[in-house]
Amino acid sequence: MKYYSLNNKAPQVSFCEAVIKGLASDKGLYFPESRTPLPTSFFENIEAYSNNEIAYKLIKQFVGDEIPVKDLKEIIADVLQFNFPLIEVEKNIYSLELFHGPTMAFKDVGARFMARCLSYFNNKNPNEVTVLVATSGDTGGAVASGFLGVEGVNVVILYPSGKVSDIQEKQLTTLGQNIKALEVDGVFDDCQAMVKKAFLDTSITSKMQLTSANSINIARWLPQMFYFAFAYKQLKDKSKKLVFSIPSGNYGNICAGMMAQKLGLPIDLFIAATNANKVVTDYLESGNYQPKPSIQTISNAMDVGDPSNFIRIEKLHDNDFDKLKNNLHSYSFTDNETREAMLHLFKECNYTADPHGAIGYLGVKEHLKNNDNTQCVFLETAHPVKFLPVLDEVIANQIEIPSQIKSVIDKEKEATKIETYKELKDFLLK
Ligand SMILES: *Cc1c(COP(=O)(O)O)cnc(C)c1O
Repeated sequence: MKYYSLNNKAPQVSFCEAVIKGLASDKGLYFPESRTPLPTSFFENIEAYSNNEIAYKLIKQFVGDEIPVKDLKEIIADVLQFNFPLIEVEKNIYSLELFHGPTMAFKDVGARFMARCLSYFNNKNPNEVTVLVATSGDTGGAVASGFLGVEGVNVVILYPSGKVSDIQEKQLTTLGQNIKALEVDGVFDDCQAMVKKAFLDTSITSKMQLTSANSINIARWLPQMFYFAFAYKQLKDKSKKLVFSIPSGNYGNICAGMMAQKLGLPIDLFIAATNANKVVTDYLESGNYQPKPSIQTISNAMDVGDPSNFIRIEKLHDNDFDKLKNNLHSYSFTDNETREAMLHLFKECNYTADPHGAIGYLGVKEHLKNNDNTQCVFLETAHPVKFLPVLDEVIANQIEIPSQIKSVIDKEKEATKIETYKELKDFLLK
């Protein structure tokens, strides 16, 4: 499979090169040159397949023959070491729990898949690779855990000081080994801007191979297709229209769902559920795409003012606004609405959601106001324990701390504070 840059001013590359480079030389995101839908019989009989088999079928064409079948299957088996349960919270409303991995965030799957691909390619390439990543919350922990101890790969994570939860901070600052954390005096957009600048800085890239582990990277982005198929597999009634509501920040997860739909997964509609950062919601309403500085909310992993994957979503809809509007709806919710939804889910449905999942649920509720004959799945993208302060404030009920979290809580934080791009550069080059 070849990948081309969505800016169209860089050469096409292989899967391997796209994974190692992250972003094309013209700053464009890589996009697969083609896609072949899977046979309908596969989706009709999806219950007969294991999660590993489903994942293999979905990802195989995007990897091509660059990783031999046996190795690719091993990578998948190693990545998918946990469950993805679909829980009915109300009639026709399901939560797809994506938080049962090592850092309790859905990003674990993408990060683990990417780390293992990079490690595979690295065996043949003796040069070290530095993964440089900006996080608004969960990416950092998932990447840190996914890449820990991977030979030939160094990881540098930038996060906005004071703007990630304590547990999130611990997850990305306590691992040591090949993982380094930089605490940036600023917001997520500042971190992302520094990372983007570094990728284009030849005084850095001439000395070291940098790559991204944000959902910009195809090896982080594409494995997220699996979730949508895992949900479909678990649905008992497959005859009703199926709608997914996805709490969205950089729009990687939802965009992967759309790719799965292109491969034939029968999804009727996507809902991008967002917080006050509502550039896409506004766009669908006005036709005017207007990135904004990010606004801080209680669902901080979605505090993104200029979602990097949106260009891929447009491409998947042939850059046709009407096509897009037929397949994607979007609603935005305030912090107060989010808290109320968490409380409602807890009291009425006996379900504890984190703020992101609660926004997904709100997206479903909004949709159902005008469309009752559908089945809706919202993605629960993080374990509620990762947002303890919000949870304590809203629900005031003890929840059990899972072992994955216990293991980092008491560890010592290690991070280097930086304020400027120059400090990042010095750090990388030293
Ligand atoms: C990253 C993240 C999101 C947003 O996912 P995107 O793919 O960036 O849209 C939502 N919820 C949680 C908990 C996250 O960590």
